[in-house]
Amino acid sequence: MSYTIHELHEKLINKEISSVELTKQFIAHRDKVEADVHAFLSTTDEEALKQAAAVDAKIAAGEEISMLAGIPGAIKDNICVKGQKCTAASKMLEDWVSPYNATVIERLMAEDYVSIGKTNMDEFAMGSSTENSFFGPSKNPWNVDYVPGGSSGGSAAAVAAGEAVWTLGSDTGGSIRQPASFCGLVGLKPTYGLVSRYGLIAFASSLDQIGPITKDVTDAAIVLNSIAGHDERDSTSIPQEKVDYRDALVDDVKGMKIGIPKEFFGEGIKAETRAAIDKAIEFYKKAGAEIISVSIPHVKSGVSIYYIIAPAEASSNLARYDGVSYGFRADGDNIVDMYINTRNQGFGMEVKRRIMLGNYVLSAGYYDAYYKKALKVRRLLKEAFDKAYEQCDVLLAPSASGTAFKFGAFTDPLALYMEDICTVPVNLAGLPSISIPVGFHDGLPLGMQIIGPTLGEKKILRAAYAFEQNHPEFTKTAPKGEM
Ligand code: GLN
Repeated sequence: MSYTIHELHEKLINKEISSVELTKQFIAHRDKVEADVHAFLSTTDEEALKQAAAVDAKIAAGEEISMLAGIPGAIKDNICVKGQKCTAASKMLEDWVSPYNATVIERLMAEDYVSIGKTNMDEFAMGSSTENSFFGPSKNPWNVDYVPGGSSGGSAAAVAAGEAVWTLGSDTGGSIRQPASFCGLVGLKPTYGLVSRYGLIAFASSLDQIGPITKDVTDAAIVLNSIAGHDERDSTSIPQEKVDYRDALVDDVKGMKIGIPKEFFGEGIKAETRAAIDKAIEFYKKAGAEIISVSIPHVKSGVSIYYIIAPAEASSNLARYDGVSYGFRADGDNIVDMYINTRNQGFGMEVKRRIMLGNYVLSAGYYDAYYKKALKVRRLLKEAFDKAYEQCDVLLAPSASGTAFKFGAFTDPLALYMEDICTVPVNLAGLPSISIPVGFHDGLPLGMQIIGPTLGEKKILRAAYAFEQNHPEFTKTAPKGEM
């Protein structure tokens, strides 16, 4: 059985399979592998089957259905779905049920989407492995001794393990692209402002974006078609005409200018990653693209800027979890004790670390030295990217230093922060980027990013599609995904 949205859509409209049958198959497979994979935090089978039946009724009545209609997916557990739990993998929101829908969910509803549950993640999306989930980590479907990446590790593990055809993730500093890379999938982080953040539990508001994790590039374009677009409820949403991203899916990169920014290939990038991307560069050359060496010096400061700006914004966004407004509340002799106990017991270690860091860099004595300076370097980084795009259509870079790492491999939080070097510059500059499979090393997938200019989604999809069409060997199914 094939798993892509576009193939299953054909089967649905040709009545080879019904959406109810399909959804039941995915639920059964999920229930079989979840004990090993733990991609889900909650399941929504009843709603999924109801929605699937509605799609089947439409097909039976000869109505046209959307590409996504009736095809089982899943949603990262920091995206609000009305009436469903939304925990952000935190004890703080363990029993919180969302009273409203995120804009992306409303858009998906308009397409008759089917979702079989909410996926695991690092607490409040802070992390790179799902090891920070209050509910325990997800496992990599290629080898369960390895992390699936993070923070959208549950969303990636669910697709790689064949538990869902597509999922939504969120990406603040790499959380869609890095888990997609670790699980051998396609992950797309849209231009900042292309997809509404309304109803996404905020981590760092100037960086957060929702995007798809899928088996292939075509599916990424299909999901992006559904979720992108202007939203009045998000003041940072870009007013934009509707675009059909599938128009970009042509196996042709002739004349395309592809930049190789040397700062993404520095110290720490494993030889196997470099070798895989070198082969990709050869492919693009042969296919008629022009390869250009470029330099974006401020990429080197990316991690430093990110770990000032993201915690600063997080410390402000997470101030609302005070035991009064939502979720968990601890006892205390007075209101201040209640507040302190709630935050002390409700948040995990990493979240507390980021709140402390954020408060520190925003405090009166350090604001200018850290926060303000970071904002200035962020601007320089964005300008350096803009300059590179005067010469190039897209840029190529690794999605991560190498393949997935083992559980417990990082005991020093700073060493793990350094691993974000390939992904955080893209969020800081607000750019779109897609991670696609670029090979294997020791049985685990490697990923490559194609980074575009602002609203250059079509360019990155085109370059990604051409590579994928000529490298079917990289889109294999993970062992846990075999049905
Ligand atoms: N790994 C990064 C962090 O821990 C990115 C997380 C994300 O994109 N949500 O902040």
